[in-house]
Amino acid sequence: MTDVGRDFRRLYGYAPEGVWAAPGRVNLIGEYTDFNDGLVLPLALPHTAVAAVARRTDGHLRVHSGDTGQGVVRLALDDLRPLSDGAGWAAYPAGVVWALRAAGHRITGADIHLASTVPTGAGLSSSAALEVVTALALNDLYGLGLGSAELALLAQHAENAFVGVPCGVMDQMASACCTPGHVLYLDTRDLSHRQVPFDLPARGLALLVVDTRVRHALGDGAYAERRAGCEAGARALGVRTLREVEPVQLPDALRRVSDPVVRSYVRHVVTDNHRVRRTIALLDAGEVRQVGPVLTEGHASLRDDLRVSCPELDLVVAAATGAGALGARMTGGGFGGSAIVLTEEDTVETVTKAVGAAFAEAGHAAPRVFPAVPSAGAHRVR
Ligand code: ADP
Ligand code: MG
Repeated sequence: MTDVGRDFRRLYGYAPEGVWAAPGRVNLIGEYTDFNDGLVLPLALPHTAVAAVARRTDGHLRVHSGDTGQGVVRLALDDLRPLSDGAGWAAYPAGVVWALRAAGHRITGADIHLASTVPTGAGLSSSAALEVVTALALNDLYGLGLGSAELALLAQHAENAFVGVPCGVMDQMASACCTPGHVLYLDTRDLSHRQVPFDLPARGLALLVVDTRVRHALGDGAYAERRAGCEAGARALGVRTLREVEPVQLPDALRRVSDPVVRSYVRHVVTDNHRVRRTIALLDAGEVRQVGPVLTEGHASLRDDLRVSCPELDLVVAAATGAGALGARMTGGGFGGSAIVLTEEDTVETVTKAVGAAFAEAGHAAPRVFPAVPSAGAHRVR
């Protein structure tokens, strides 16, 4: 990681007031559930967006990323407009400033320089890391006194309303609230959450992230379409969100939804919420190996019912489980991006090789594989 404090000084000619970090995440289980008031189980990665920040008093925002090759973007706070094209990546930090001001907080400007080790567009929430690190830095510098969940909600509002991505709140909550050695059991209906110990090495296990490096363009519209389909399902069933549908009610609910596409979305959301509950029960009981098949079941549901997987993600799951992994599934929005694999520590090499060989045989570029070490949520570095 480059020294963002030093780079800030070079860029702006003075020292920053502080340095903050916010992580990317992987989601263990509970996918496409967060915009249905559902349950999710993410963990923070060691990969972070790190920002050096100082306040300004002249109503201007300057932002710079060490990762884009672009120059400093300078914006007047009074001119910030939601959904305006042309801001590019700067819309993420600018959106957070806009959201804070829209919520009534007095922000008079900032200089920001950041650099991130979170792979972008890999389903690992590089966008939430940018938003949350910006929100936390401004919260500290301006003494706003907002809690982690409030910052996550503001960051989500920035991404929804300013950038124009209709994401749920999981990514921002994970980046803001996760703790080392734990998964975050989050109920997105009321943001209540619990830190659940997730010490895989102590049990001789490992969780791998496999970044396929594939990004299928159809992902963007498909996400909004799934969201609209889930809302249509809730309307057809007369509930506020699909969260209200319990597993025992599922057969009856499926009979009452006439559209076959919407019906399969309903089935995914209800069964994936239940898979989160089953996973939590297994973790609480110390039956961590039993989580593997639940992950693979979740993948089948995302592939067949929600139809958000792709051949490369399916190949990771097939190759990893074929080589003896306990379970695997795509994670994040799908259509490329990353999968996770739960495996015995002593089969990590076998599984990694098998996935690499399957990709080579299919003519795909080599995937990037690394361990998902449950790491800290957003924090001040200095
Ligand atoms: P994900 O959040 O899964 O990585 P998104 O499409 O939601 O994918 O967010 C990726 C976008 O976030 C990038 O296209 C870019 O605009 C912005 N971004 C992420 N990391 C950086 C960075 N280090 N510097 C500049 N922009 C970044
Ligand atoms: Mg994102």
